[in-house]
Amino acid sequence: MNLVLMGLPGAGKGTQAERIVEEYGIPHISTGDMFRAAMKEGTELGLQAKSFMDKGELVPDEVTIGIVRERLSKEDCQKGFLLDGFPRTVPQAEALENLLTDLNKKIDYVININVDRSILMDRLTGRRICKECGSTYHLIFNPPAKEGVCDKCGGELYQRADDNAETVQNRLDVNIKQQEPLLTFYETKGYLRTIDGQQDIRKVFADIEQLLEDLR
Ligand code: AMP
Repeated sequence: MNLVLMGLPGAGKGTQAERIVEEYGIPHISTGDMFRAAMKEGTELGLQAKSFMDKGELVPDEVTIGIVRERLSKEDCQKGFLLDGFPRTVPQAEALENLLTDLNKKIDYVININVDRSILMDRLTGRRICKECGSTYHLIFNPPAKEGVCDKCGGELYQRADDNAETVQNRLDVNIKQQEPLLTFYETKGYLRTIDGQQDIRKVFADIEQLLEDLR
């Protein structure tokens, strides 16, 4: 089950990814999470990524493609994978095709979670994430039982540095511009499946499950 999850920031990729990974037992490969982890550890990769991420810009393709290549070559990707936040550009998508050919694999589906831009602003600025386990919440749409505390592990919730209103505008602009040619690329390949991301979280997942039924 080789999947790519697409959607603009705030479309619900993180939330749906958690559910897909839990249900199907495939590794969740999020380039954003990998960059944030590298920044936290203060590695060379983290330093390279930080200046771009702080401004809401994309990290250069050669850096990003390099970390994905390394990750997809690992043993746990044999049974499949869920890519989240990658590819974000056509050169990244082309690099992924080449990389998968080398590994004797191919993409089954590119799942695009579709949400209008106006709704994304509200969603992103209200997003909160657990410091300990990375679970995502929303102040209004998906609040934790106790304010500021993760339901799953009791960890402290925080707002991502790039979820402030100004950076969010820029992230949306950058991502919308990048996403269009990518959707065309995958539509042409026949991999693209669009899911309505403006429905209830459970209904969005039910639609994904229905799509993945034949890959089980
Ligand atoms: P995300 O968590 O996916 O929203 O990513 C947060 C930030 O990490 C982005 O705004 C970019 O700066 C960087 N990033 C994540 N994935 C990629 C990618 N595929 N290509 C370039 N930059 C990325």
